Amino acid sequence: MLKWLLRIINSFFQSSSTIPGTVVAPLTSTSNNSENKTQGPIIMISKNFSLDEFLVSQTATRHGIDMTPPPEIENNIKRLVIDVMQPLRDIAGPLLISSGYRPEDLNSLIGGSKTSAHRFGCAADFRSNLMTPLDLCELIVDLNLPFDQVIHEFGRWVHVGIRWDDQPIRKQTLTAYKEGTKTRYLNGLFAMEDIA
Ligand SMILES: [Zn+2]
Repeated sequence: MLKWLLRIINSFFQSSSTIPGTVVAPLTSTSNNSENKTQGPIIMISKNFSLDEFLVSQTATRHGIDMTPPPEIENNIKRLVIDVMQPLRDIAGPLLISSGYRPEDLNSLIGGSKTSAHRFGCAADFRSNLMTPLDLCELIVDLNLPFDQVIHEFGRWVHVGIRWDDQPIRKQTLTAYKEGTKTRYLNGLFAMEDIA
């Protein structure tokens, strides 16, 4: 924990890189997820994130599902990036996004929850090559980012969501694990080896 605090303090002294409300970034890419690029110009929505990174799904491609987000969904993705993903990335380094926006067809295909924040462009699943998923989850909490839900998923990746409606944020933290073939959730953030 102390290690992250020191890094946070250092980063505040080194840069004043707070992201203003709406960032219209240039078309040059500093995206950290180059394999996930789709065709066409890359639209950067913050210093390090492109819109495309939140619109990639192998299942959608296989099933010909259109991942083009409606304007309100695109705004949600931008809010997720500006409020949570970029501030986290500033401290944690590159984040590898495996899932962002899930249109309704895609969400039902993969058996996602009907109220999943992914449906609204308000959630991302990701991991890092520098930090464990559990450390990333704890860092999101320690940074006091305005998340609605953080889930430590099976010790393998992080799910973070913001609100898609006008309800207050819950700041809920959960750990997902398998019991046989069933997915179970515990309140709080735990290492997999601590769940017996
Ligand atoms: Zn997720």
